[in-house]
Amino acid sequence: MTARVLVVDDISANVRLLEARLSAEYFDVLTACNGLEAIAICERERIDVVLLDVMMPGLDGFDVCRRIKANPKTHHIPVILVTALDQASDKVRGLEGGADDFLTKPVDEIALVTRVRNLARLKTLTDEMLMRALTGRQMGLSEDAALLKALSEESGRVLVVDDDARSAKRIAGWLGTVHEAVVISDPKSALAKLASQEFDLMIVSLTMSGADGLRLCSQVRSTDRARHLPIIVLVEPGNEARLLRALDMGVNDYAMRPVDENELLARARSQVRRKRYSDHLRNRLEERIEAAVIDPLTGLHNRRYMETHLATLVEEARRSGRSLSVLLADIDHFKSVNDTYGHDAGDAVLREFSERFKRNTRGIDLACRYGGEEFLIIMPDTPLERACQIGERLRVSVAADTFLIGPGSGIHITASVGLATLERADDTPQSVFRRADTALFEAKRRGRNRVAANAA
Ligand code: GH3
Ligand code: MG
Ligand code: MG
Repeated sequence: MTARVLVVDDISANVRLLEARLSAEYFDVLTACNGLEAIAICERERIDVVLLDVMMPGLDGFDVCRRIKANPKTHHIPVILVTALDQASDKVRGLEGGADDFLTKPVDEIALVTRVRNLARLKTLTDEMLMRALTGRQMGLSEDAALLKALSEESGRVLVVDDDARSAKRIAGWLGTVHEAVVISDPKSALAKLASQEFDLMIVSLTMSGADGLRLCSQVRSTDRARHLPIIVLVEPGNEARLLRALDMGVNDYAMRPVDENELLARARSQVRRKRYSDHLRNRLEERIEAAVIDPLTGLHNRRYMETHLATLVEEARRSGRSLSVLLADIDHFKSVNDTYGHDAGDAVLREFSERFKRNTRGIDLACRYGGEEFLIIMPDTPLERACQIGERLRVSVAADTFLIGPGSGIHITASVGLATLERADDTPQSVFRRADTALFEAKRRGRNRVAANAA
């Protein structure tokens, strides 16, 4: 989705200039020529970034920014203040009013695109986070603590890489008011640090005398652990070529030397947020995928996963002409374990059973919990005869040793096993499974604690 940028300036020539530049970078641009109009548009439209001129008659940029940030409907929209003079006091006022970043007139092209792009990305992540929170609330779920923490936490761990000790100390001092800053003077130690610790942001000087900051950035981007780490580089004016290379290789943002404290703090805050939001969303995705296919009690795959996978394995076995066997095991008289010793004891038996089950499978076998006390192993490249040996080994491993259901108390458990193999040309995953089930029924009928195979 294209980011929508609202450009606000009382001088229409300024509006046109910014509009043209942003449109050329494929942003969707809306415009306003005074503060009230800007606020109305923010309330009415989906706006991803506001570029706000400070010097305007009537409501000035500071007032507009403060109002946008005070309104719950618009407060999450990032605001970039455009100041005429490079005045430190303006930036302090802006930050106090909730501004997210700054641009100085005349607006530099690289600065404009970098600032807008960063804040538009952050806005996308913020929207997603707020939507998740809303959905959770609408579904009547209790407040998601991890999500709220990710949304509210401001401070992060920042690695500052600079061989100019004075500059590094000053920057670490500024950051230290909000974040935890760690200073490193050479790239090699920085890489070692990143490999052993978690950081939310790296700030790298591109003007180090004895080291190449750009190389460090590219190395960091190619490591597994720090691939997603936000990077801000520090550059000298006149070094635009190096800056462009840095941005090309995925560096997120930059600050010009002499570094302005408030600008750096604003950018660090945005990048730390971005890291936190995207980590949260990524972790949630992994958790969800896992929750969808793993049985929480035993850690084995669940039935849903098994069904999808069995179809794939049957197809593969048919294509390669190899054998495939299915083993279905069911704990004998399990209901009476629950009835006699309680549900927790039953759960303990299921967990221990799963451990023994896993011990009897190879890496390529897929073990899963099919239902309550029914377990299944799909064994590729395994003929029926071999499957019978595995079934017998499993049966013995269950019956041989007692199952611990509490300190010092063990009970005897047995299980019945049914087996089937893919053999007929018209076999489907369902027909093989059904034969294994029939075999299991047969094992139960013949007195339990035994293995039965079903030849087609
Ligand atoms: P059979 O030898 O014929 O298999 O008898 P059975 O008692 O094992 O079989 P039945 O299907 O009658 O009972 C299965 C029991 O498994 C009933 C159910 O309460 C219990 N069960 C299913 N899932 C769980 C679970 O997650 N935890 C516990 N503790 N019990 C479970
Ligand atoms: Mg049973
Ligand atoms: Mg059963």
